[in-house]
Amino acid sequence: MWRDLRPVGRHPDSGGYRRYAWTGADTDCRAWFRDQATARGMTYECDRNGNQWAWLGDPAAGDAVVTGSHLDSVPDGGAFDGPLGVVSSFAAVDELRARGAAPTRPLAVVNFGDEEGARFGLACVGSRLTSGALTPKDAGRLRDADGVSLPQAMERAGHDPQAIGADPERLARIGAFVELHVEQGRALDLTGDPVGVASAIWPHGRWRFDFHGEANHAGTTRLEDRRDPMLTYANTVLAARKRARLAGALATFGKVAVEPNGVNAIPSLVRGWLDSRAADEATLTALVEAVERAARERGDRDGVGVHVERESFTPVVEFQHALRDRVATLLTGDPDRPAPVLPTGAGHDAGILSVAVPTAMLFVRNPTGVSHSPAENAAEDDCLAGVGALTDVLEGLACR
Ligand SMILES: [Zn+2]
Repeated sequence: MWRDLRPVGRHPDSGGYRRYAWTGADTDCRAWFRDQATARGMTYECDRNGNQWAWLGDPAAGDAVVTGSHLDSVPDGGAFDGPLGVVSSFAAVDELRARGAAPTRPLAVVNFGDEEGARFGLACVGSRLTSGALTPKDAGRLRDADGVSLPQAMERAGHDPQAIGADPERLARIGAFVELHVEQGRALDLTGDPVGVASAIWPHGRWRFDFHGEANHAGTTRLEDRRDPMLTYANTVLAARKRARLAGALATFGKVAVEPNGVNAIPSLVRGWLDSRAADEATLTALVEAVERAARERGDRDGVGVHVERESFTPVVEFQHALRDRVATLLTGDPDRPAPVLPTGAGHDAGILSVAVPTAMLFVRNPTGVSHSPAENAAEDDCLAGVGALTDVLEGLACR
Protein backbone atom coordinates (compact mmCIF):
# COMPACT_ATOMS: atom_id res chain seq x y z
CA MET A 1 0.00 0.00 0.00
CA TRP A 2 2.78 2.46 0.87
CA ARG A 3 4.55 1.68 -2.42
CA ASP A 4 1.45 2.79 -4.35
CA LEU A 5 0.78 5.87 -2.22
CA ARG A 6 4.34 7.15 -1.82
CA PRO A 7 4.66 9.07 -5.14
CA VAL A 8 1.12 10.54 -5.17
CA GLY A 9 1.21 14.34 -4.75
CA ARG A 10 4.81 14.36 -3.60
CA HIS A 11 6.66 17.54 -4.51
CA PRO A 12 10.08 16.76 -6.00
CA ASP A 13 11.84 19.75 -4.42
CA SER A 14 10.55 19.64 -0.85
CA GLY A 15 9.86 15.91 -0.63
CA GLY A 16 6.60 16.90 1.09
CA TYR A 17 3.05 16.07 0.06
CA ARG A 18 0.63 18.47 -1.58
CA ARG A 19 -2.59 16.49 -1.61
CA TYR A 20 -5.20 19.22 -1.51
CA ALA A 21 -8.91 18.43 -1.51
CA TRP A 22 -10.46 17.78 -4.91
CA THR A 23 -7.20 18.27 -6.86
CA GLY A 24 -5.50 15.71 -9.09
CA ALA A 25 -3.37 14.28 -6.28
CA ASP A 26 -6.44 13.93 -4.08
CA THR A 27 -8.33 12.23 -6.92
CA ASP A 28 -5.44 9.77 -7.31
CA CYS A 29 -5.54 9.02 -3.55
CA ARG A 30 -9.28 8.47 -3.76
CA ALA A 31 -8.87 6.10 -6.71
CA TRP A 32 -6.32 4.21 -4.63
CA PHE A 33 -8.83 3.94 -1.76
CA ARG A 34 -11.50 2.58 -4.07
CA ASP A 35 -9.05 0.01 -5.50
CA GLN A 36 -8.12 -1.12 -1.97
CA ALA A 37 -11.80 -1.58 -1.12
CA THR A 38 -12.66 -3.59 -4.22
CA ALA A 39 -9.46 -5.65 -4.05
CA ARG A 40 -10.66 -6.87 -0.63
CA GLY A 41 -14.19 -7.56 -1.80
CA MET A 42 -15.48 -4.70 0.38
CA THR A 43 -18.51 -2.71 -0.75
CA TYR A 44 -17.37 0.73 -1.88
CA GLU A 45 -19.44 3.90 -1.60
CA CYS A 46 -18.84 7.64 -1.71
CA ASP A 47 -21.28 9.56 0.49
CA ARG A 48 -23.04 12.84 -0.31
CA ASN A 49 -20.17 14.83 1.25
CA GLY A 50 -17.40 13.06 -0.63
CA ASN A 51 -16.26 10.78 2.19
CA GLN A 52 -15.31 7.32 0.97
CA TRP A 53 -16.42 4.10 2.69
CA ALA A 54 -15.39 0.47 2.28
CA TRP A 55 -17.83 -1.93 3.94
CA LEU A 56 -17.72 -5.45 5.23
CA GLY A 57 -21.30 -6.52 5.96
CA ASP A 58 -24.49 -4.53 5.50
CA PRO A 59 -24.33 -0.96 6.85
CA ALA A 60 -28.13 -0.95 7.18
CA ALA A 61 -27.80 -3.52 9.98
CA GLY A 62 -26.57 -0.68 12.19
CA ASP A 63 -24.21 -0.51 15.19
CA ALA A 64 -21.26 -0.53 12.78
CA VAL A 65 -17.64 -0.32 13.82
CA VAL A 66 -15.82 2.20 11.63
CA THR A 67 -12.12 2.95 11.39
CA GLY A 68 -10.09 5.18 9.07
CA SER A 69 -8.69 8.67 8.74
CA HIS A 70 -7.87 10.99 5.80
CA LEU A 71 -5.61 11.02 2.75
CA ASP A 72 -5.27 14.76 2.05
CA SER A 73 -2.33 16.80 3.36
CA VAL A 74 -1.18 20.22 4.51
CA PRO A 75 1.24 22.06 2.17
CA ASP A 76 4.41 19.96 2.11
CA GLY A 77 3.00 17.58 4.69
CA GLY A 78 4.48 14.30 5.81
CA ALA A 79 3.67 10.81 4.57
CA PHE A 80 1.96 9.58 7.75
CA ASP A 81 -0.52 12.23 8.93
CA GLY A 82 -3.78 10.70 7.68
CA PRO A 83 -2.57 7.92 5.37
CA LEU A 84 -1.14 5.92 8.31
CA GLY A 85 -4.69 5.61 9.64
CA VAL A 86 -6.19 4.53 6.30
CA VAL A 87 -3.37 2.11 5.43
CA SER A 88 -3.47 0.62 8.95
CA SER A 89 -7.24 0.19 8.69
CA PHE A 90 -7.00 -1.86 5.49
CA ALA A 91 -4.07 -3.79 6.97
CA ALA A 92 -6.17 -4.49 10.07
CA VAL A 93 -8.97 -5.87 7.87
CA ASP A 94 -6.38 -8.21 6.30
CA GLU A 95 -5.10 -9.18 9.74
CA LEU A 96 -8.61 -9.89 11.03
CA ARG A 97 -9.10 -12.25 8.11
CA ALA A 98 -5.73 -13.87 8.70
CA ARG A 99 -6.79 -14.50 12.29
CA GLY A 100 -10.04 -16.03 11.06
CA ALA A 101 -12.03 -13.43 13.03
CA ALA A 102 -15.51 -12.96 11.55
CA PRO A 103 -17.19 -9.61 12.30
CA THR A 104 -20.61 -9.88 13.90
CA ARG A 105 -21.20 -6.15 13.31
CA PRO A 106 -20.84 -4.21 10.03
CA LEU A 107 -17.27 -2.98 9.69
CA ALA A 108 -16.06 -0.08 7.54
CA VAL A 109 -12.89 1.74 6.56
CA VAL A 110 -13.45 5.44 5.86
CA ASN A 111 -11.48 8.19 4.14
CA PHE A 112 -12.83 11.56 5.28
CA GLY A 113 -12.56 14.26 2.62
CA ASP A 114 -10.75 17.57 3.03
CA GLU A 115 -9.52 17.01 6.59
CA GLU A 116 -6.58 19.40 6.61
CA GLY A 117 -8.40 22.35 5.09
CA ALA A 118 -5.27 23.30 3.16
CA ARG A 119 -7.21 24.47 0.11
CA PHE A 120 -10.35 26.11 1.53
CA GLY A 121 -9.07 27.20 4.94
CA LEU A 122 -11.46 25.13 7.07
CA ALA A 123 -10.37 21.79 8.55
CA CYS A 124 -12.46 18.60 8.65
CA VAL A 125 -14.93 19.71 5.96
CA GLY A 126 -16.08 16.15 5.15
CA SER A 127 -16.88 15.20 8.74
CA ARG A 128 -18.22 18.69 9.58
CA LEU A 129 -20.71 18.48 6.70
CA THR A 130 -21.77 14.96 7.71
CA SER A 131 -22.26 15.91 11.38
CA GLY A 132 -24.06 19.14 10.46
CA ALA A 133 -21.41 21.34 12.08
CA LEU A 134 -20.90 22.93 8.64
CA THR A 135 -24.02 23.88 6.69
CA PRO A 136 -24.18 23.58 2.88
CA LYS A 137 -24.69 27.36 2.76
CA ASP A 138 -21.48 28.07 4.68
CA ALA A 139 -19.64 25.39 2.69
CA GLY A 140 -20.77 27.15 -0.50
CA ARG A 141 -18.94 30.30 0.63
CA LEU A 142 -15.57 28.55 1.00
CA ARG A 143 -13.09 29.56 -1.70
CA ASP A 144 -9.54 28.57 -2.51
CA ALA A 145 -6.70 31.00 -3.29
CA ASP A 146 -7.78 31.12 -6.96
CA GLY A 147 -11.37 31.99 -6.09
CA VAL A 148 -12.71 28.51 -6.89
CA SER A 149 -15.57 27.65 -4.55
CA LEU A 150 -15.81 24.31 -2.77
CA PRO A 151 -18.91 23.26 -4.79
CA GLN A 152 -17.11 24.17 -8.04
CA ALA A 153 -14.06 22.16 -7.00
CA MET A 154 -16.24 19.17 -6.07
CA GLU A 155 -18.06 19.34 -9.39
CA ARG A 156 -14.82 19.55 -11.38
CA ALA A 157 -13.61 16.43 -9.57
CA GLY A 158 -16.80 14.61 -10.55
CA HIS A 159 -18.73 14.89 -7.27
CA ASP A 160 -22.27 16.33 -7.22
CA PRO A 161 -22.17 19.34 -4.84
CA GLN A 162 -25.98 19.67 -4.76
CA ALA A 163 -26.28 16.75 -2.34
CA ILE A 164 -23.89 17.95 0.39
CA GLY A 165 -25.22 18.35 3.93
CA ALA A 166 -25.88 16.68 7.27
CA ASP A 167 -26.19 12.91 7.12
CA PRO A 168 -27.74 11.84 10.45
CA GLU A 169 -29.00 8.49 9.06
CA ARG A 170 -25.44 7.51 8.22
CA LEU A 171 -24.10 8.52 11.64
CA ALA A 172 -26.96 6.70 13.37
CA ARG A 173 -25.73 3.45 11.86
CA ILE A 174 -22.29 3.81 13.47
CA GLY A 175 -21.81 2.30 16.92
CA ALA A 176 -18.14 3.22 17.28
CA PHE A 177 -15.50 5.12 15.30
CA VAL A 178 -11.81 4.47 15.97
CA GLU A 179 -9.19 6.64 14.22
CA LEU A 180 -5.54 5.63 14.22
CA HIS A 181 -3.15 8.56 13.70
CA VAL A 182 0.56 9.25 13.88
CA GLU A 183 1.23 11.15 17.11
CA GLN A 184 1.88 14.83 16.55
CA GLY A 185 4.09 15.23 19.56
CA ARG A 186 6.60 13.26 21.62
CA ALA A 187 4.54 11.94 24.53
CA LEU A 188 4.87 8.28 23.46
CA ASP A 189 8.55 8.71 22.70
CA LEU A 190 9.02 10.01 26.21
CA THR A 191 7.06 7.13 27.83
CA GLY A 192 8.63 4.52 25.53
CA ASP A 193 5.32 3.16 24.21
CA PRO A 194 4.71 2.40 20.51
CA VAL A 195 0.94 2.98 20.73
CA GLY A 196 -1.30 5.09 22.97
CA VAL A 197 -4.94 6.12 23.28
CA ALA A 198 -6.35 9.66 23.10
CA SER A 199 -8.06 11.10 26.15
CA ALA A 200 -9.13 14.45 24.78
CA ILE A 201 -8.47 17.10 22.17
CA TRP A 202 -7.50 20.36 23.81
CA PRO A 203 -9.72 23.37 23.25
CA HIS A 204 -8.03 25.75 20.82
CA GLY A 205 -8.57 29.02 19.04
CA ARG A 206 -7.15 31.81 16.93
CA TRP A 207 -6.99 35.46 17.93
CA ARG A 208 -5.97 38.39 15.74
CA PHE A 209 -3.99 41.13 17.50
CA ASP A 210 -3.92 44.53 15.76
CA PHE A 211 -1.24 46.95 16.96
CA HIS A 212 -1.89 50.50 15.68
CA GLY A 213 1.03 52.94 15.75
CA GLU A 214 2.27 55.73 13.53
CA ALA A 215 4.23 55.34 10.29
CA ASN A 216 7.33 57.51 10.14
CA HIS A 217 10.85 57.77 8.78
CA ALA A 218 13.30 55.23 10.24
CA GLY A 219 16.21 57.64 9.70
CA THR A 220 14.86 60.91 11.05
CA THR A 221 12.37 60.09 13.81
CA ARG A 222 13.88 60.26 17.30
CA LEU A 223 13.33 57.12 19.37
CA GLU A 224 11.41 59.13 21.98
CA ASP A 225 9.02 60.42 19.32
CA ARG A 226 8.08 57.06 17.89
CA ARG A 227 4.83 55.12 18.24
CA ASP A 228 6.24 51.83 17.01
CA PRO A 229 3.74 48.91 17.01
CA MET A 230 6.52 46.43 16.23
CA LEU A 231 7.86 46.95 19.75
CA THR A 232 4.46 46.22 21.28
CA TYR A 233 4.06 43.19 19.05
CA ALA A 234 7.52 41.84 19.93
CA ASN A 235 6.83 42.25 23.62
CA THR A 236 3.47 40.50 23.22
CA VAL A 237 5.12 37.50 21.54
CA LEU A 238 7.48 37.17 24.50
CA ALA A 239 4.61 37.59 26.97
CA ALA A 240 2.60 34.87 25.18
CA ARG A 241 5.48 32.46 25.42
CA LYS A 242 6.02 33.18 29.11
CA ARG A 243 2.30 33.00 30.01
CA ALA A 244 1.93 29.70 28.11
CA ARG A 245 4.91 28.21 29.90
CA LEU A 246 3.54 29.23 33.30
CA ALA A 247 0.08 27.83 32.44
CA GLY A 248 1.36 24.53 31.01
CA ALA A 249 -0.36 25.49 27.75
CA LEU A 250 0.64 26.54 24.22
CA ALA A 251 0.70 29.96 22.56
CA THR A 252 2.16 30.71 19.14
CA PHE A 253 2.38 33.79 16.97
CA GLY A 254 3.08 32.12 13.61
CA LYS A 255 1.72 34.68 11.19
CA VAL A 256 2.31 38.40 11.03
CA ALA A 257 1.44 41.21 8.61
CA VAL A 258 3.10 44.62 8.66
CA GLU A 259 2.05 47.92 7.10
CA PRO A 260 3.59 49.59 5.22
CA ASN A 261 6.18 46.79 5.41
CA GLY A 262 9.14 48.95 4.38
CA VAL A 263 12.70 48.41 5.59
CA ASN A 264 13.17 52.12 6.33
CA ALA A 265 9.70 52.82 7.74
CA ILE A 266 8.38 52.59 11.28
CA PRO A 267 5.22 50.51 10.83
CA SER A 268 1.76 52.01 11.15
CA LEU A 269 0.18 48.63 11.81
CA VAL A 270 1.39 45.23 12.93
CA ARG A 271 -1.13 42.43 12.84
CA GLY A 272 -0.22 39.14 14.52
CA TRP A 273 -2.24 35.95 14.81
CA LEU A 274 -2.15 34.02 18.08
CA ASP A 275 -2.85 30.28 18.07
CA SER A 276 -3.41 29.07 21.60
CA ARG A 277 -4.35 25.70 23.12
CA ALA A 278 -4.71 24.39 26.65
CA ALA A 279 -5.97 21.35 28.52
CA ASP A 280 -9.19 23.10 29.56
CA GLU A 281 -11.17 26.14 28.49
CA ALA A 282 -10.67 28.08 31.74
CA THR A 283 -6.88 27.85 31.37
CA LEU A 284 -7.08 28.84 27.72
CA THR A 285 -9.31 31.84 28.44
CA ALA A 286 -7.11 33.02 31.30
CA LEU A 287 -4.00 32.64 29.17
CA VAL A 288 -5.33 34.66 26.24
CA GLU A 289 -6.64 37.34 28.62
CA ALA A 290 -3.20 37.58 30.22
CA VAL A 291 -1.54 37.96 26.81
CA GLU A 292 -4.07 40.63 25.87
CA ARG A 293 -3.44 42.48 29.15
CA ALA A 294 0.31 42.39 28.56
CA ALA A 295 -0.23 43.73 25.03
CA ARG A 296 -2.33 46.65 26.28
CA GLU A 297 0.06 47.55 29.09
CA ARG A 298 2.99 47.61 26.70
CA GLY A 299 0.85 49.43 24.12
CA ASP A 300 0.18 52.23 26.63
CA ARG A 301 3.92 52.70 27.10
CA ASP A 302 4.57 52.66 23.34
CA GLY A 303 1.65 54.92 22.39
CA VAL A 304 0.21 52.01 20.44
CA GLY A 305 -3.47 51.04 20.28
CA VAL A 306 -4.28 47.33 20.69
CA HIS A 307 -7.35 45.63 19.26
CA VAL A 308 -7.99 41.89 19.73
CA GLU A 309 -10.45 39.83 17.71
CA ARG A 310 -11.24 36.14 18.29
CA GLU A 311 -11.39 34.55 14.83
CA SER A 312 -12.19 30.97 15.78
CA PHE A 313 -12.69 28.76 18.81
CA THR A 314 -13.08 24.99 19.13
CA PRO A 315 -14.21 23.67 22.51
CA VAL A 316 -12.63 20.72 24.27
CA VAL A 317 -13.38 17.24 22.89
CA GLU A 318 -13.53 14.63 25.62
CA PHE A 319 -13.54 11.19 24.00
CA GLN A 320 -16.19 8.85 25.38
CA HIS A 321 -14.64 7.34 28.51
CA ALA A 322 -16.26 3.90 28.18
CA LEU A 323 -14.91 3.36 24.67
CA ARG A 324 -11.57 4.98 25.49
CA ASP A 325 -11.03 2.73 28.52
CA ARG A 326 -12.17 -0.34 26.61
CA VAL A 327 -9.73 0.44 23.80
CA ALA A 328 -6.88 1.08 26.28
CA THR A 329 -7.56 -2.30 27.88
CA LEU A 330 -7.93 -4.13 24.54
CA LEU A 331 -4.46 -2.89 23.56
CA THR A 332 -2.70 -4.66 26.39
CA GLY A 333 -5.27 -7.33 27.21
CA ASP A 334 -4.75 -6.42 30.87
CA PRO A 335 -7.27 -4.17 32.69
CA ASP A 336 -4.69 -3.43 35.39
CA ARG A 337 -2.14 -2.25 32.85
CA PRO A 338 -3.97 -0.30 30.13
CA ALA A 339 -2.11 1.46 27.30
CA PRO A 340 -1.04 5.06 27.93
CA VAL A 341 -3.84 7.61 27.58
CA LEU A 342 -2.81 11.05 26.40
CA PRO A 343 -4.36 14.33 25.27
CA THR A 344 -3.56 16.08 21.99
CA GLY A 345 -3.53 19.66 20.82
CA ALA A 346 -4.41 18.77 17.21
CA GLY A 347 -7.91 18.58 15.72
CA HIS A 348 -9.19 15.41 13.99
CA ASP A 349 -12.31 14.04 12.27
CA ALA A 350 -12.76 11.84 15.36
CA GLY A 351 -13.21 15.02 17.39
CA ILE A 352 -15.85 16.37 15.01
CA LEU A 353 -17.76 13.06 15.01
CA SER A 354 -17.59 12.68 18.79
CA VAL A 355 -20.71 14.84 19.21
CA ALA A 356 -22.77 12.18 17.41
CA VAL A 357 -20.86 8.89 17.69
CA PRO A 358 -18.74 7.23 20.41
CA THR A 359 -15.21 7.80 19.12
CA ALA A 360 -11.73 6.80 20.16
CA MET A 361 -8.25 7.45 18.79
CA LEU A 362 -5.04 5.45 18.72
CA PHE A 363 -1.71 7.23 18.37
CA VAL A 364 1.41 5.65 16.91
CA ARG A 365 4.74 6.87 18.28
CA ASN A 366 6.45 9.67 16.37
CA PRO A 367 10.16 9.54 17.29
CA THR A 368 10.79 13.25 16.76
CA GLY A 369 7.29 14.59 17.30
CA VAL A 370 7.60 16.48 13.99
CA SER A 371 4.39 16.61 11.95
CA HIS A 372 2.99 18.72 9.10
CA SER A 373 6.48 18.52 7.60
CA PRO A 374 8.33 16.24 5.15
CA ALA A 375 10.45 15.17 8.16
CA GLU A 376 7.44 13.53 9.83
CA ASN A 377 8.27 9.90 10.58
CA ALA A 378 7.21 6.68 12.27
CA ALA A 379 9.31 3.53 12.58
CA GLU A 380 8.14 0.46 10.68
CA ASP A 381 7.97 -1.60 13.88
CA ASP A 382 5.75 1.03 15.48
CA CYS A 383 3.50 1.16 12.42
CA LEU A 384 3.15 -2.63 12.62
CA ALA A 385 2.40 -2.36 16.35
CA GLY A 386 -0.29 0.16 15.41
CA VAL A 387 -1.85 -2.29 12.94
CA GLY A 388 -1.76 -5.03 15.59
CA ALA A 389 -3.37 -2.70 18.15
CA LEU A 390 -6.06 -1.57 15.73
CA THR A 391 -6.78 -5.20 14.79
CA ASP A 392 -7.14 -6.09 18.48
CA VAL A 393 -9.55 -3.21 18.95
CA LEU A 394 -11.62 -4.10 15.87
CA GLU A 395 -11.71 -7.74 16.86
CA GLY A 396 -12.74 -6.82 20.41
CA LEU A 397 -15.46 -4.43 19.27
CA ALA A 398 -16.79 -6.09 16.10
CA CYS A 399 -16.10 -9.81 16.31
CA ARG A 400 -17.57 -10.97 19.58
ZN1 LIG B 1 -4.37 14.09 10.35
